[in-house]
Amino acid sequence: MTALVKKVMVIGLDAPIAKRVYMYAKRGDLPNIKRLLDEGVYAENCIVPFPTITPPNWTSIVTGARIGTHGIPSFNIHRPGDPLSKLYQAFDSSDCKAEYIWNAAERAGKKTILLNYPSTWPPTMKNGYQIGGYGLNINEWRINVPVGKIRISLADAQLFSTEPYPLANQIEFRRASEWRNLPEARNPLETELKLNYRNALYKVEDVTWHLLVLDDEDGKYDRIIVSKSRDAEDKLFELRVGEWTKNIVEEFKTEKGPVKAVFKCKLIELSEDAKKFRLYVSPICALSGWSYPESLAEEIWSDEGLPMPLSGAFRPLGLGWIDIETFKELIEFHNVWLADAASYLLKNKDWDLFFMHNHVPDSMYHFFATRMDPATAKSPDEAKFWQDVELSLYQSIDRMIGKIISAADKDTLIIIVSDHGAKATTKKFSIFKILRDKGFLAFKDGEDIDGALKRVPQIDWSRTKAFPCPPCCYIRINLKGRDPDGIVEPEDYEKVREEIINALYDYTDPETGKKPIRLALRREDARILGLYGDHVGDIVFAIGGDFMGQHGPHLPTDEWGIGSQKGLLIMKGPGIKRNYILKRTVELIDIVPTICYLMDLPIPRDAEGGIIYQALENPNFKIEETEKLRREYEELKRRYELLEQVIESESHLSHDRPAY
Ligand SMILES: [Zn+2]
Repeated sequence: MTALVKKVMVIGLDAPIAKRVYMYAKRGDLPNIKRLLDEGVYAENCIVPFPTITPPNWTSIVTGARIGTHGIPSFNIHRPGDPLSKLYQAFDSSDCKAEYIWNAAERAGKKTILLNYPSTWPPTMKNGYQIGGYGLNINEWRINVPVGKIRISLADAQLFSTEPYPLANQIEFRRASEWRNLPEARNPLETELKLNYRNALYKVEDVTWHLLVLDDEDGKYDRIIVSKSRDAEDKLFELRVGEWTKNIVEEFKTEKGPVKAVFKCKLIELSEDAKKFRLYVSPICALSGWSYPESLAEEIWSDEGLPMPLSGAFRPLGLGWIDIETFKELIEFHNVWLADAASYLLKNKDWDLFFMHNHVPDSMYHFFATRMDPATAKSPDEAKFWQDVELSLYQSIDRMIGKIISAADKDTLIIIVSDHGAKATTKKFSIFKILRDKGFLAFKDGEDIDGALKRVPQIDWSRTKAFPCPPCCYIRINLKGRDPDGIVEPEDYEKVREEIINALYDYTDPETGKKPIRLALRREDARILGLYGDHVGDIVFAIGGDFMGQHGPHLPTDEWGIGSQKGLLIMKGPGIKRNYILKRTVELIDIVPTICYLMDLPIPRDAEGGIIYQALENPNFKIEETEKLRREYEELKRRYELLEQVIESESHLSHDRPAY
């Protein structure tokens, strides 16, 4: 009796709007996803855990455990006993109290490949392979990094330009002199390019490149040479307008010793008179430090792709450094790298389970969901423009999926899954403001908030009874004896909680007349949402889609405009129904038990979900198989009994050997 499924591939997409992926795929724009839909099951009501946010929900997917059980409550964690405003980012695997499926599988001798799967670093496997998990992208670190910040190994993207752009390195040209091997040109110009290391994870020694700008026989500038010294033969690359370099590998001196890193550059703009010049340098991406075993990183190579943080594409677009085509190219480099890394591991390593995560949809919706949704776009043209960008990024992801699933065989179960959805930014709303206005929270003199709340103002703890835990759905009572600055007497705890819950429900947005609060619960009651334990706030609240940003404090069922918070779940493989839309509610915690059921794997210690029976062609296949085996066993047993009787009777007939 062998397992129905021999291997499983789980490809995670962060924050796609499931119904839009379905629509694009069905109409043929995403051929690889379409094939999975045609040959598999699409779960129309995939309900993700609340809050609709990244670290807890990816953790639920791979533990099968509810948030209260695995203990990753939101994007950030408050450690009980710490000051209420002290939080850290939830990316450290040691914060997860539930067993991961790969640790359970390891007990059965199975091997797992993890690729860029959030909140799983440091690695907990002994025999598997892991790349990333300390942030949302390769070379983007969030462990031991302040809330809301990232650190990059080695450097984020940079722009060298002759005109002022925000955060760019502005340069001026002068006539080139003292160059060796200067190419033919009428009036060559030069400057130095001093690299910067914005948001660097560790210190990198200064590097200065030398740039030559060259003109043609008509005196029109049309190409550049970038060199490590004033010797054109020592060049790193040569470019004309619109061209990318190949992937360039250089060794950088850092405080951790020499580190090899890969990057590429594009000459975005060079006017004929060289007055307008823009050179984009991609994130400088370390080629080590992000794998288990540590030497694994050295094996991974991509000719075209870059192991780059997405900040290297989205920020430059937001700052006006690059055009939309360059942006799309960068997303492709990001996705190609994930596809190449996955393909290499799947084809060259011994594996049973594969889990990966791609963060592009989340970043794109934070960037342009508001401009893409006709309900919030400035014009129909604007909505159309960004929907086209949306589609082209999904097409890039679809190509990535196609390449990865080409390593699947007929015994492989393929699952496409997400952690939550997204929507446009709607009306501003601040839980701080409600608490302040109702007297539960006080700012220090001179401090105040705007509606958007980009920064939490300084709190006057001596007058603060409750503090919300940004960016999400929790409020903590400032309790004496428990919290360092506690002022609420334990006997008043219930009263204060009740007053706050009432205040939340009472609040009406003065401009729209709408109530932002969908529900507000005591922690004990939040168990119905899978939320319990010390890391969860004393009060849990959810807000409606008419308020705030893309996702987080919104319910998993929330739909607004063309957005939706529902999860994306597609399954295809042995024993799975074909071309089937599953209407029943499926939870993300159901994925692990379903995999274990189909693969005959040990159930992870803390898994709480159930098997998605209705996705199976024959939900009773195990009972039927057991019945068949039982019948065969009974039949075999009967025959042996007969045989024994025959031997017994024969032994009485024989005088050659003694009867026992
Ligand atoms: Zn997410």
